[in-house]
Amino acid sequence: MIKASSYAAYDTTSPLRHWDFERRDVGADDVQIDILYCGVCHSDIHCARGEWFEMAYPQVVGHEIVGRVVSTGKNVTKHKVGDLVGVGCLIDSCRTCKSCKEDLENYCEAGMTGGTYMGVEKQTGRPTQGGYSSAIVVDENFVLKIPGNLDPARAAPLLCAGITLYSPLRHWGAGPGKTVGIVGLGGLGHMGVKLAHAMGAKVVLFTTSPGKVADGRKLGADDVVISKDEKDMARYAGQLDFIVNTVSAPHNLDPFLNCLKRDGTLVLVGAPPAATPHPSPAVFPLLIKRIAIAGSAIGGIKETQEMLDFCGKHNVMPEIEMTSIQDINKAWDRVLKSDVKYRFVIDMATLKNAA
Ligand code: NAP
Ligand code: ZN
Ligand code: ZN
Repeated sequence: MIKASSYAAYDTTSPLRHWDFERRDVGADDVQIDILYCGVCHSDIHCARGEWFEMAYPQVVGHEIVGRVVSTGKNVTKHKVGDLVGVGCLIDSCRTCKSCKEDLENYCEAGMTGGTYMGVEKQTGRPTQGGYSSAIVVDENFVLKIPGNLDPARAAPLLCAGITLYSPLRHWGAGPGKTVGIVGLGGLGHMGVKLAHAMGAKVVLFTTSPGKVADGRKLGADDVVISKDEKDMARYAGQLDFIVNTVSAPHNLDPFLNCLKRDGTLVLVGAPPAATPHPSPAVFPLLIKRIAIAGSAIGGIKETQEMLDFCGKHNVMPEIEMTSIQDINKAWDRVLKSDVKYRFVIDMATLKNAA
């Protein structure tokens, strides 16, 4: 067994605290990674706090992992000791269903058993534990290569926030001639603005925070709308090809449906707590413009590598604030207040400091 140190959730309310545990030994197909950085996704908070499902504790969250390969199993060919690699939301899947065969492991028909946390480790039958930790052992097929020109700390949020926006932007065709809306300037949303801009689309950011307007423009938005201001929203009535909504707080979707062109799509990626869903949208606006409401969940491994390579080529990098692991609870409080510019990344070297 491999010793790992972490900060874990012990129940739905207490602050995260230090926990030593063991990773499985490196199997023939496995890569052992020393974790350098881990991004802080709002999903970490939803999960640790039991807002989506009940879970077993202690639970280590974190699925925006960047680290160095320190050991490889005998069958491993894709990665070697010393490589800078990433691990996102998936560490496994059934590998046999139609979705897995089409490189869409994120839609594996066996369910999300291969979650980096809150999954079940096939090799041991134990709960999977995520990236707020010193080390991880992952099947080589679920390990990504980080392009050499990307700063390792800033690359971390690409592993979830990056792919979660890249995938729907590609699927719904962001590019020249398209006008794309991004709702919410948080970790996911700021990557949506940067990626849609890099793909050549016209980007309209919808924010509830007047203080983020200037940043929105700097990050690549062609225009910024204050979504709580009806008059400002009216400027975009019937103007957008599709919208990616990253907000998890329950809110009225109708004003965004009103901004879509005929045949437009509102893509939901923000995931509200089970107890507080979005109010049901009005049906009539959907009928009269043949509008669709869709969802999208992260992306498959192949597309995640494509996204990393795209970000390397176009130098698309998250804006981050570095935190120590000891300050993780303060960082979570700030995420809950939408007060982070625009993704926290934990410097895992701080795990070596006194807990
Ligand atoms: P985040 O950094 O907290 O950003 C969320 C943004 O939502 C905030 O910055 C804020 O933007 C806006 N917001 C917050 N409260 C609001 C309210 N009451 N009304 C309207 N807007 C509000 O979170 P994140 O890490 O980007 O994650 C966003 C959501 O996506 C979470 O639910 C997360 O679990 C989910 N997620 C889904 C996937 C997937 O595969 N579908 C993957 C990763 C994460 P403004 O200040 O600009 O309004
Ligand atoms: Zn995430
Ligand atoms: Zn599958």
